[in-house]
Amino acid sequence: MAKEKNEKNSENEKVTFNIDKDKNFSEWFTEIIKAAELADIRYNVKGFLVFQPWSVLSMESMYDLFEKELQKKGHKPYWYPSLIPESNFMLEKDHVEGFAPEVFWVTEHGAGEKFEERLALRPTSETAFYQMFALWIRSYRDLPFKTYQRAQVWRYETKATRPFLRSREFYWIETHNAFASLEDSKNQVKEDMETTETVLHQKLGVPYIFFERPAWDKFAGAVSTFGADTLTPDGKTLQLPSTHILGQNFSKPFNVVFKDKDGSEKLTYLNCYGPCISRIFAGVIATHGDNSGLVFPFEIAPVQIVIIPIAAEKDPAVLKMANKLKDELFENGYRIEVDDSDKTMGEKFYYWEMKGIPLRIEIGPKELKENHIVIFRRDTKKKEVLNPADLIDYIEKTAKKEIIKNLRERADAKFKEKLKSAKDIEELKKYLEERNLVRINFCSLEKDGEECAGIIEKTLTAKIRGKRADIQENPSGNCVVCGKKANVVAYAAKEY
Ligand SMILES: [Zn+2]
Repeated sequence: MAKEKNEKNSENEKVTFNIDKDKNFSEWFTEIIKAAELADIRYNVKGFLVFQPWSVLSMESMYDLFEKELQKKGHKPYWYPSLIPESNFMLEKDHVEGFAPEVFWVTEHGAGEKFEERLALRPTSETAFYQMFALWIRSYRDLPFKTYQRAQVWRYETKATRPFLRSREFYWIETHNAFASLEDSKNQVKEDMETTETVLHQKLGVPYIFFERPAWDKFAGAVSTFGADTLTPDGKTLQLPSTHILGQNFSKPFNVVFKDKDGSEKLTYLNCYGPCISRIFAGVIATHGDNSGLVFPFEIAPVQIVIIPIAAEKDPAVLKMANKLKDELFENGYRIEVDDSDKTMGEKFYYWEMKGIPLRIEIGPKELKENHIVIFRRDTKKKEVLNPADLIDYIEKTAKKEIIKNLRERADAKFKEKLKSAKDIEELKKYLEERNLVRINFCSLEKDGEECAGIIEKTLTAKIRGKRADIQENPSGNCVVCGKKANVVAYAAKEY
């Protein structure tokens, strides 16, 4: 199967992938999705797309990373229905207001017969989870009650859709959690931030800053919202996981109560966290990719190692050796492929580089004779020579540690370069044009700062992302927009 596919592709893929990613990121992103076969946008429902194996395999690994981390921290998996009755949905006022314009409604079944009430195709699942929480949570002993599900959700986006970045159906994890106190739910937010650091930054190498969002940009129904923003090469922020303190906004209407130690009945405090896997995938490829195509961190690469037999037609022992190595690597749990198609060496090298496979092994008659193999690292584009007996050791050491470390450090350095401080609106404008994330003195992130944020949005097409949640920063001077005394250090950037 793989062989057939390669042969078919070789017809039209002789041209190598080469787009200046930093200069033309938008074009790079569109073209790499096509070239690497990540997703096909030709599906005949607008805003919906087909995810192809090269992204699905990687996103499956990303799901695993997040789910393992969540389970380690005591979250239990659930699978909820994708339909939510309208009556549930209407219980929390801000939630309805925020989500109603984006909901797909299921209204009839069979031969056009209407349902008694409309059913929402879940855009998010607070109103599905919490009615069940009300049935399950009885006493303080049940708390904390920590759950999650991996699921797709549907939102009727009115902005232009783009594969992975914004589509009308996307794949995510949502956690939903109940606590006895506000303090406990705030600690959950801290834990969500640690989960984000472990997976997004340490394991996937994507840099970000967690911002507490302004009052006017909170999740619909939340008391406070924290979003992790990374930056794409064209200087736009991309919100990756976000976590929300919901207070008692949902536990009240859904009656999620518990009997405390003293016998009194109390409302729980709720929290939710949502790493969007398909969007994080966009973050990963945007962060690590280069002008020749994708660059995957080893742990989530759809295929981690490709073996290229050289001159196998002249020496059958080459293919035999390649397959023997393949079996050995497979037994050790790696995702591996042997490319024995009839493409030229050059074509094969370019093709697998474009696909972002972390390690390429070359074996030919010369290597066989000298009992060594050549390993090419996609991240450094450097070759090394190795005794085949040391291969597993090398992969464990290099693949699992050095590659991700190198990718992360490279990404961190770039991200750091793009953090700027502007002293006035002119400087803010300049830094935004130069595609940065800009630190400014700002009047307020409460309601009364919304006007200044509106001016920034209108005149500079940038948004106030909020204040940093990881460190405390003190303003000095005046709001760069209105000139009133600044109460907060905020960040502005263009966004996806
Ligand atoms: Zn202001």
